Amino acid sequence: MAAFESLTSRLQSVFSKLKGKGKVTENDVTEAMREVRLALLEADVNFKVVKDFIAKVKEQAIGLEVSKSFTPGMVIIDIVNKELTELMGGTQAKLAKANKPPTVIMMVGLQGAGKTTSSGKLARLLQKSNHKPLLVACDIYRPAAIKQLQVLGEQIKAPVFAMGDQVSPVEIARNGLQFAKDNGHDYIIFDTAGRLHIDEALMDELKQIHAIVNPDEVLLVVDAMTGQDAVNVAQSFHEQLELTGVVLTKLDGDTRGGAALSVKAVTGKPIKFAAMGEKIDSLEPFHPERMASRILG
Ligand code: GDP
Repeated sequence: MAAFESLTSRLQSVFSKLKGKGKVTENDVTEAMREVRLALLEADVNFKVVKDFIAKVKEQAIGLEVSKSFTPGMVIIDIVNKELTELMGGTQAKLAKANKPPTVIMMVGLQGAGKTTSSGKLARLLQKSNHKPLLVACDIYRPAAIKQLQVLGEQIKAPVFAMGDQVSPVEIARNGLQFAKDNGHDYIIFDTAGRLHIDEALMDELKQIHAIVNPDEVLLVVDAMTGQDAVNVAQSFHEQLELTGVVLTKLDGDTRGGAALSVKAVTGKPIKFAAMGEKIDSLEPFHPERMASRILG
C-alpha cells in the first residue's frame, strides 16, 4: 500500500542499523533519533509533535537496562512502536452512545474531505451491528450532495431524510431529528456542508445545527492526503465546535502520514474511524496500535 511508504522505509533503515548492534551507545541513540526526527518531519508531522515524541523516546532509550534476551536495537524499536501508538491515542476510541436513543452524530469538515461518503459508510458500519441509522442531508450548497447521499442510502438500504436545497440546514436538522425519533432510528447521522476554506458563515451554521441537535459525536472528517493543512483545519474546527473525534479519509492514497500522526496530539481528539477507499465498506474503526505497526513496516 502506498500510504506511509516513504516514512516506513526511512524508519526501517534507521532501525536496521540499530538491530545489527550488540550494544547501543548513547551516540547511536542520538544519531538514530536524529534520523527518526527527520523522517517524521518529512512525513509532514507537526514540528512540536515531533519534538515531544523524540524527547520521550530518547528519555526511555538512553541508559536502557537491556535484558539478555533482547538486543538494545530491538528494545528501541519497541519504545518507538509504543510511543507511536500513544501519539495516535493509545487505545481504540469508540463511538459514543446516547443514554436515550437516537445517538446523534454530526459530520463536519471541509468540502471534498469525504463527509458525504463517510456518512454513508458509517451508516453501513452501524447496520452491520444491527443498528437502524438515519442519514440526514444538511449540505444544501454543494451541487448534488443531497443526491449523492440518497444514492448511498439506496445502496445500503438506509433511509435518507432530505428537504431539498431551498430549506435552511438548521430546519432540515430539526425535522430530521424528529423524524428519527418518530421512526425508531437509534442513530442519526447529519451530513453537513463544507467549504473550500473555513469561513464564519459555515461555522455559524454548524453551531446552530449543533445547538438544535445536541450531538453525542461531532466527527471532523479529514483528508489524510492534505497532511499538515488537515491538522490546522482540525485545530480551527475544534476551537469553534468542540469536536469529539476525527474520521481520517483517503488512507488508501499516498499520504505521507503527517495528519494521522499529528491530529490527536494537536487537537486532543482521537481518530475514531479510518477510510481506505471509495467503496461503501471501506470505513473501519481506527486502531492506533495497528496503525503504528503498519507505519513501522
Ligand atoms: P464531502 O464534500 O466532504 O462530502 O466529500 P465526498 O464525500 O463527496 O468525497 C469527496 C471525494 O473523495 C469523492 O470522490 C469520494 O469518493 C472520495 N473519497 C472519500 N473518502 C475516500 C477514501 O477513503 N479513499 C478514496 N480513495 N477516496 C475517498
